[in-house]
Amino acid sequence: MRSGTNLKRPVLAAFVLTAVLVGGAAAAPLPSPAHLPTLARTLNEPAGPPARHGNYDVLDYDLDLTVDPGAQQIDGRVRVVLQPLGGDGDRIVLDLVGNLTCDAVTRRAENLIFRHDGDSLVVTLPATLTALEPDTLTILYHGRPQPHGVFNAGFMWRMRDTGLAGDPSDDTPIIATVVEPWSAHSWWPCKDDPADKATVGLDITVPDSLEVVANGTLLGVEAAGAGRRRYRWREAYPIATYLVSIAVTDYVSWSADCLPRIGPAVRLDFHVFAEDSARAVVDLAPTCDMMEMMTDIAGPWPFAGEKYAQAEIRWVGAMEHQTATSISQFLLTGDRANETTVIHELAHQWYGDSLTPKTWPGIWLNEGFARYFEALWVEQEYGAEAYGDFMQQIGRVRHPDLFAGEGILADPDPILPNILIYNKGAWVLHLLRLLIGDDAFFTFLHDYPNDPALARSGTDTAAMIGHAEQAAGRSLEAFFTPLLQTDAVPVIQVEVTISPAAVNLVQLQDPPFELPVPVRIFTGSGPQDTVLDLAARSQSFSLAGFGKIDSVQIDPQNLSLMRRASAPVRSLEIQGPVPNPGPHSEFELYLKDYAQVTVDVYDARGYRVDTRHLGWLDPTGPAGEDGSTPHIFRWPAGPAAPASGVYWLRFFAGSNQATRKFTLLH
Ligand SMILES: [Zn+2]
Repeated sequence: MRSGTNLKRPVLAAFVLTAVLVGGAAAAPLPSPAHLPTLARTLNEPAGPPARHGNYDVLDYDLDLTVDPGAQQIDGRVRVVLQPLGGDGDRIVLDLVGNLTCDAVTRRAENLIFRHDGDSLVVTLPATLTALEPDTLTILYHGRPQPHGVFNAGFMWRMRDTGLAGDPSDDTPIIATVVEPWSAHSWWPCKDDPADKATVGLDITVPDSLEVVANGTLLGVEAAGAGRRRYRWREAYPIATYLVSIAVTDYVSWSADCLPRIGPAVRLDFHVFAEDSARAVVDLAPTCDMMEMMTDIAGPWPFAGEKYAQAEIRWVGAMEHQTATSISQFLLTGDRANETTVIHELAHQWYGDSLTPKTWPGIWLNEGFARYFEALWVEQEYGAEAYGDFMQQIGRVRHPDLFAGEGILADPDPILPNILIYNKGAWVLHLLRLLIGDDAFFTFLHDYPNDPALARSGTDTAAMIGHAEQAAGRSLEAFFTPLLQTDAVPVIQVEVTISPAAVNLVQLQDPPFELPVPVRIFTGSGPQDTVLDLAARSQSFSLAGFGKIDSVQIDPQNLSLMRRASAPVRSLEIQGPVPNPGPHSEFELYLKDYAQVTVDVYDARGYRVDTRHLGWLDPTGPAGEDGSTPHIFRWPAGPAAPASGVYWLRFFAGSNQATRKFTLLH
């Protein structure tokens, strides 16, 4: 899901203004990540998900719903095929909001006793649930669905005319459902629990000027009385209730066949408002390229034989309804400014829809993966630097404290809206990739959503970690646990020594992390990048294998998730000489205090051949820390250079001294 704040124009302006341009004449705008706002909780927001109903499993729902936009009323019949799971009770509980009226519950043409208690529909069965045969209940209900849930959405009655300046006066209905996380029961009776997926039929009757887009396959469209049509949709793959959706208006619709390299062809359907169709053609044009990227990475389209539709709705965001993404008119700008939303919702079809968290705290598995696929799309389209920029946008730019104090990712509060589950979730995947390398990481991205056992049971954080460990071939507990179960951030004290060449890292925070730390090593043959696996509270990494090292940068592109600690300042630190050997060289002097500095130079025989008085020098801050600017000492200076050979330079700063060896080579 992606959402904005409200229906006012400034939202649109914000989307456009935050777009970042990529250099180069032909470059398209680099989409900047839209961020979920913090929405005020509404009166209609339930305190939490409905209670679990563990004594039955739903196998299939069949909805037959008549939608009357004029009266803003629905009349429905829902047939529920359920499998009793045993137990000695004779009642089952379905979820249905109290403001809809249940007219009857029947079983084999007999009325059952029911009680509509708050948002629960308690049905008494003629026998106890020990019977293990599947059973079918039919529920008749009607009413006027009201805004519901954390986004004050639910079953939404809208009209084309927004009333805003420049919009045509047009009262064509736009009806759409957005119910994540637990508002499905605000428009149809169901077991509103993501752990219980079932197949779903959606027979939706509407005025014949309107078109209905829903999940799965359109089986047919038939006349349904005066001025009405019935759209008969069926989702043949198990679907969670929060992904069941209808989107209804007088759409302009078109299709395209997409033939990815992997898996079956997928028909792409597009349904947009007539006035937005030119913009939508541009904005949704990359869909097939995105489908290619998804199938390359995540495996075949998980809903083989079914289409992938994108249907415009009047709302403020986008929602990954299974095979039928809903997308806000505000995201259709005609310049691909929101293309990351298009890949985000498509990625959810694998991560969220086909593979669904068993419980809502696992929602970060949905949003973190979908957000990370935004980064992968940016990387594919615009290159590694743009990928890095994107990660900064969803990292330290949006979260200057690097997610510290923002809550626990694996148990987020609130479930939605919560920017943490998107951005830190994506950062966990980015760091995992740095840590285990591309081969293992992309094996994981592929194998995890294609695990048939998980597709059946639903996923959770432990199952995801299991797949990552399988791909990496080792335990990743030390990596995942502090990232997922705490809101701490690594605070790293860095010390770089050139002779011997080493990086010493100390973690100051609790708990310690396993953290990938990129380093850039400058040698005579140019910079080399590598990643250190920091797996202890204090660890020293030898750089001896890199040959002669001039200098080292720690995480120069901010690609790790760490804050730099202020290292304890040594009174006198010398880095260099660079180059060495050479006709002359430079030394970097770091001082803790204001000090008078002198340098004595000795030749290989031990004779002092030069003395330099540098005077009183200011403190510099420690070596290797941002903001530290060393004093530079060059030797030899001037035309009267000594002969080639080995020299020792002894630096004095107050009572401190340090010695460096330099080979002078003319
Ligand atoms: Zn999402």
